Amino acid sequence: MRQNGLNQAATLREPAELVAHGLAPAADLADLEKVAARYAIAVTPDIAALIDPGDPDDPIARQFIPSAEELVTQPGEDADPIGDHTHSPVEGIVHRYPDRVLFKLVHVCAVYCRFCFRREMVGPGKANALPQPAYDGALDYIRAHNEIWEVILTGGDPLMLSPRRLGEIMADLAAIDHVRIVRLHTRVPVADPARVNDEMVDALKVAGATTWVALHANHPRELTDAARAACARMIDGGLPMVSQSVLLRGVNDDAATLEALMRAFVECRIKPYYLHHGDLAPGTAHLRTTLEQGQDLMRALRGRVSGLCQPDYVLDIPGGHGKSPVGPNYLSQTREADPESRYRVIDYCGDVHLYPPKP
Ligand code: SF4
Repeated sequence: MRQNGLNQAATLREPAELVAHGLAPAADLADLEKVAARYAIAVTPDIAALIDPGDPDDPIARQFIPSAEELVTQPGEDADPIGDHTHSPVEGIVHRYPDRVLFKLVHVCAVYCRFCFRREMVGPGKANALPQPAYDGALDYIRAHNEIWEVILTGGDPLMLSPRRLGEIMADLAAIDHVRIVRLHTRVPVADPARVNDEMVDALKVAGATTWVALHANHPRELTDAARAACARMIDGGLPMVSQSVLLRGVNDDAATLEALMRAFVECRIKPYYLHHGDLAPGTAHLRTTLEQGQDLMRALRGRVSGLCQPDYVLDIPGGHGKSPVGPNYLSQTREADPESRYRVIDYCGDVHLYPPKP
């Protein structure tokens, strides 16, 4: 882990603070103030300590330090890029697939990611937590829909809530017979690992439902000793974990970095789950790759690490049509060339084989 030598105790939220700590150039201050007027900024001490201020291409800085490029919205970018609003029957709930809902409890996060797909909805300027009547209405909705097997707590970052409040929410959900899984998506174990204490872990365990935790991390340097210890506390405490990452230009868009990230997850007992293609959030074009680059990287990953280290490369289809796997295809048919209509299968080296082989 590289340290920038800061003795910084508070989360940095203002462009001037970033400049004062050497994390952004003074010449950019006016532009960064414009960015700050539109999108939230937060860099925790743990994340600031990971940034090398001497590296203009630092992959941690690219994720958290604002840039003037965010002021440019490209055609096709949308304030609601994955169509949450289209599938929101009541405040706080997104019901896109029959057996699961998103339950958005808070609109704040420990850090604000520059590529966030909900960047127009999260931040201190937004409502802090779901008001009680809306919370009750969301619970009523879940109760009334027997098909809901899984509730995904997201936001915002649900681990920004106190252990006491989280315990109450977990109990409310577990009391609903058909809710068997509660999944929390969080960046807290890497952004503010001290928050994941025994009280928090205890709050997340509840009789009547199984809790899963999905950790969002995009670069292997985020898995510091403290972050690994926070994850171990959760896993040892009985909370299984999966990962989610976003493929980001200049952060993890090379095979060696992705390999190191996936190996780090598995070493932490976190199963790699999703590698998201960058969503069409406003002002994020400079951080997106092409789908072809993503497919090439997934092919490379297949050749370098075991199945345990393979995430699904997925695209959230704009408009709210859900996630689809968009990784490379290893199978095709030989119909035109072969009257026996066999399959062509590509191996991990890129070589093509026929299946079944000729006797
Ligand atoms: S933690 Fe998640 S919701 Fe919060 S800013 Fe980052 S990507 Fe967005």
